[in-house]
Amino acid sequence: MAVKTQHFWERLSLQEMNRAQWESLCDGCGRCCLHKLEDEDTGDIYFTDVVCHYMDKQTCQCPHYATRQAYVPNCLTIYPDWGEKFNWLPSTCAYRLLHEDKPLFDWHPLISQDPESVHSAGISVRGKTFSDDQVNGEDFQQYIIDWVK
Ligand code: SF4
Ligand code: SF4
Repeated sequence: MAVKTQHFWERLSLQEMNRAQWESLCDGCGRCCLHKLEDEDTGDIYFTDVVCHYMDKQTCQCPHYATRQAYVPNCLTIYPDWGEKFNWLPSTCAYRLLHEDKPLFDWHPLISQDPESVHSAGISVRGKTFSDDQVNGEDFQQYIIDWVK
């Protein structure tokens, strides 16, 4: 009888993962570096295509990841016990998916074994954003998008 092995993200809860496992969940999409607007009345989150100017537009990586809050004080750190705050992440984000007991997508590099798959599947923000140092903060509402929810 064939035995199907479970991947660590199927076997462990977010709380049980070690640091390396936790970090490897990030697919590198860059969507969490997009500016978001929150409806004060409903709490609904709207993503814009305005991105933090520190993000590398080609790799969609943060060049200051380890010390990012020194550059952007309100840049988020995700925690396993974040609760409702997981709603601040895009619905495709592995951390949110696992928090919601949903499977990872096939394009996730942990499954595809190819870090480029998040880009070739059209999930990353590569080539789709405006930098926040070129957009007036009061105009963000005009940049709301529907390709990230
Ligand atoms: S949205 Fe999630 S998976 Fe994508 S870059 Fe941010 S933390 Fe990583
Ligand atoms: S500081 Fe880095 S991680 Fe934070 S929003 Fe900017 S690019 Fe993204």
